[in-house]
Amino acid sequence: MHIVVIGSGIGGVTFSEEILKRRQDCKVTLVTRETHGYYSRPLLSHGFTREDIEDKIIMKPFAALEAAGITVKAGVDVTRLDRAARTVEIRDRETDCRLSYDKLVFATGSAALIPPPFRSIEVRYYVLNSLDDLKELRSLRNGWRLLKKIPHWAVIGGGLIGCEVASDLAAAGDFVHLFHAMPRLMERQLVDGDSKSLLTVLENSRIKVELDCAVQRFETRGDGITVIYAGGERSGFDALIIACGFNPRIDLAREAGLAVNRGIRVDQQLTTSDPDIFAIGDVAECADGKIYAYVTPIRNQAIWLSGCLSSTTSGSWEPPFFKPKAKVHGFNAEYPYLF
Ligand SMILES: Cc1cc2nc3c(=O)[nH]c(=O)nc-3n(C[C@H](O)[C@H](O)[C@H](O)COP(=O)(O)OP(=O)(O)OC[C@H]3O[C@@H](n4cnc5c(N)ncnc54)[C@H](O)[C@@H]3O)c2cc1C
Repeated sequence: MHIVVIGSGIGGVTFSEEILKRRQDCKVTLVTRETHGYYSRPLLSHGFTREDIEDKIIMKPFAALEAAGITVKAGVDVTRLDRAARTVEIRDRETDCRLSYDKLVFATGSAALIPPPFRSIEVRYYVLNSLDDLKELRSLRNGWRLLKKIPHWAVIGGGLIGCEVASDLAAAGDFVHLFHAMPRLMERQLVDGDSKSLLTVLENSRIKVELDCAVQRFETRGDGITVIYAGGERSGFDALIIACGFNPRIDLAREAGLAVNRGIRVDQQLTTSDPDIFAIGDVAECADGKIYAYVTPIRNQAIWLSGCLSSTTSGSWEPPFFKPKAKVHGFNAEYPYLF
């Protein structure tokens, strides 16, 4: 049996390793646009305070996955799924090729969500969603450090990733201004009291936090970037990071006619509307309507699915108990996170 896995994050890599442990008769091909190896995405948000991050973040080079028996096609894009022919089309620079599968696993993860009003703006903005994004941001900072300039960042979004990024940039010595549209920080994950403690921690780290501040647009002016929101504006930023949530990568699945909503819809066996195609991780919208975009449940999905496809597990996938935690320097929530 040939299983093709799209995506080399925790979902795709864990599944590939686990299925090969359980089924020696399987051939597994892992296709990914990544080139740096299998890395820890959660560590990205401590990417400014740790000098050695670009090496330390790599958990396994692709050569190690190959040595474990996985065929890795790295630095390539899956561009089309043909369910009738059971093939995926792969673009490798100029050449296109097709790969046949018996079973296909979507572990395509998510991209940073860019709200519609920001999509057409001409001002250059950054996101922190991949190792390439982190390398780009670090190289920008290094340029300023050579000029002995302390950069002034505008971070848009006071959810989990926005707070973590703002905290790490401030801990690295930069000036940070955090804009959040809602009246309190991380309102989806934290109870009111913990949001207040988080605000205090960030403000004590010299981060200027603006709540209830729905950013409308950005402009480049003589003194840098200006952030314009309902009722006011702030000027003089050197760079802009948008951290407004995540967008499951569902395009391939939708174009192939699979059932999608916010994510690719799966049932309690993590199976899509096609019985030979499965989805796990940030891209999978589970039977309860939730997307479990945290590493503990994703790893659990990957192991469960490998058990299911090797007939060693049956029944339904149930989310494990897990405790999300914001990696904001100096902050510990008193109450459990909401999910
Ligand atoms: C900055 C940051 C901090 C985080 N911190 C935490 C934390 O502290 N704790 C926690 O639990 N979670 C955290 N998360 C969330 C967690 O990292 C994700 O939920 C998890 O990594 C998602 O794993 P995944 O395997 O579903 O997808 P991903 O890791 O997104 O991997 C998907 C892969 O698919 C590839 N791909 C997509 N489409 C194609 C295509 N068409 N062709 C080829 N390749 C393709 C992508 O290049 C990527 O390699 C954080 C996320 C970020 C961005």
